[in-house]
Amino acid sequence: MSKEELECSFCGRKKAETNLLIAGLDAHICDRCIEQAHGIVIEEALHSTNSELSKELMLKKPKAIKAFLDDYVIGQEHTKKVMSVAVYNHYKRLLQPKSDEEIEIQKSNIVIVGQTGTGKTLVAKTIARMLNVPLAIVDATVLTEAGYVGEDVESILTRLLQAADYNVEKAQNGIVFIDEIDKIARKSDNPSITRDVSGEGVQQALLKLLEGTTVNVPPKGGRKHPDQKFIEVNTENILFIAGGAFDGIERHISKRLNMQAVGFSASKNEYIRERDNMLKFIIPRDLKDYGLIPEIIGRLPVLTFMNPLDKGTLRAILTEPKNAIIKQYKKLFEMDEIDFVITEEALDFIVEQAIEYKLGARGLRSLCEAVLTDAMYDLPGSNETELRVTMEYAQEKLNRSTIKKLKAVS
Ligand code: ADP
Repeated sequence: MSKEELECSFCGRKKAETNLLIAGLDAHICDRCIEQAHGIVIEEALHSTNSELSKELMLKKPKAIKAFLDDYVIGQEHTKKVMSVAVYNHYKRLLQPKSDEEIEIQKSNIVIVGQTGTGKTLVAKTIARMLNVPLAIVDATVLTEAGYVGEDVESILTRLLQAADYNVEKAQNGIVFIDEIDKIARKSDNPSITRDVSGEGVQQALLKLLEGTTVNVPPKGGRKHPDQKFIEVNTENILFIAGGAFDGIERHISKRLNMQAVGFSASKNEYIRERDNMLKFIIPRDLKDYGLIPEIIGRLPVLTFMNPLDKGTLRAILTEPKNAIIKQYKKLFEMDEIDFVITEEALDFIVEQAIEYKLGARGLRSLCEAVLTDAMYDLPGSNETELRVTMEYAQEKLNRSTIKKLKAVS
């Protein structure tokens, strides 16, 4: 066969009609057929992941998801319930057969409003762990509109790819937790002369990702430049969870509630106690008043809130979760054949310190570290086989240097 007569064995195009014709043993394939075949391979791969997913995921009903969360997250009952349903629906949407498209199920992206340190990241982490899907935790404050100093929103997907060891299919079924979403609220209602590149601009850029789109992601992050190879990531099946403290949003909530009380007699009956966590009355409109654009709010349809951690919750966090801090220390000492016991009073004392220094749940760990560092240094290799931490012991250790440092950061 002369060169001119060569043709694609799949579509029959002559060599001259193709951009590229690759020779095999007895056949040839053209660039178009390669692309088409590649599409089929991807489609098949997605299909098989979905059926694998279905096997793994559909076993977990909302109640089972909540039960899993209960093992790791103390309190926050409302959020755990709402998230269990949202996650369940998210994966149901994912597993919806392709033919059944008359009713398109909307994505269940979530927004959690609550003070820092109340467990927002923990909930996202726990869900990712339960589903065994990759999780990227990103901070909205570093994001800027493309072309400005800071990170493009695509960097979020770079993180997710990294968390998935660059397995694109895994990444496409993963979870992204966007922390500090409140920090990209519109700075003011007045359109200003300077562009709001880290506020509304970022919200606009995020929209597409949240809804579902195909993005060219620079695998190593950084700015896009022409000679870098991109990885295509489709965000349609990625679950986005946004979290933020929304400092001062209570004002918007109470203002709205008062206004409603004037307008509707029914809401007057809703009895609001002074000590109530105002966040439990939050509705999407409050986020809009705070400065999130309506389109973003629309793409985060599941809205929930966290309660501040009270003394009882902090105390429970020390000992109750499956991987509770105290259990971890016990394990560490056990490895050196040391029996670690801590008294109830000592635990109460640590909690009181966390409250006094406004360290929250995150502080519990640093406080325990301050109490136990000496023992963890001295005991291994000694003849001691028991460590008993009493309140006096804890007090003495904290009164030394470290507590002053803790105080300084609070
Ligand atoms: P946020 O994302 O709301 O700022 P995190 O989830 O990062 O808070 O919480 C910080 C740490 O505090 C967690 O790693 C966890 O150890 C602990 N923590 C906070 N809230 C809870 C909770 N409700 N149950 C168990 N641990 C918690």
